Amino acid sequence: MAVLQILQEPNPILRMKSKDVEKVDHKLQTLMNEMLETMYQAPGIGLAAPQVGVLKRVIVIDLSKDEEKKNPLFFVNPKVVWKSEDIVSREEGCLSIPGHFAEVRRPNKCKVEYLDYHGKMKLLDAENLLATCIQHEIDHCNGVLFIDYLSKLKKDIIIKKLIKANREN
Ligand code: ZN
Repeated sequence: MAVLQILQEPNPILRMKSKDVEKVDHKLQTLMNEMLETMYQAPGIGLAAPQVGVLKRVIVIDLSKDEEKKNPLFFVNPKVVWKSEDIVSREEGCLSIPGHFAEVRRPNKCKVEYLDYHGKMKLLDAENLLATCIQHEIDHCNGVLFIDYLSKLKKDIIIKKLIKANREN
């Protein structure tokens, strides 16, 4: 299984809007498997296709902590169809923004419509960390990163640090 390269901010691909997937076929499943493997290896709890340079609305998530019992979730063309009014602040990080974390405010619950690994239409009620994670990953499909929710000053500092770190590596 190939491990893919994760793009880092500031990379213009991360700012592009992804397209809907037309068909969940074997090729797309291979991409999902590779994304999952890449996410596990990073390690991270969520990954969106644009982060590996593929502009498709596909995300993978696994919030399980136990190594033995993995619980991968695959979302194709995910769409938030409902958001709760209660907003929570949670610390977020991102594999495309390594080493930086910040509090982001988002709805604590949401309902998501999507196609699963087999292309079957599903509706999921998500709350807490899962809701945060889904919203964070869907943002990636729209070219949005969590640092976009911060003040311009904080965002600029993080981007400058990332550029500096990339230059040194
Ligand atoms: Zn991210």
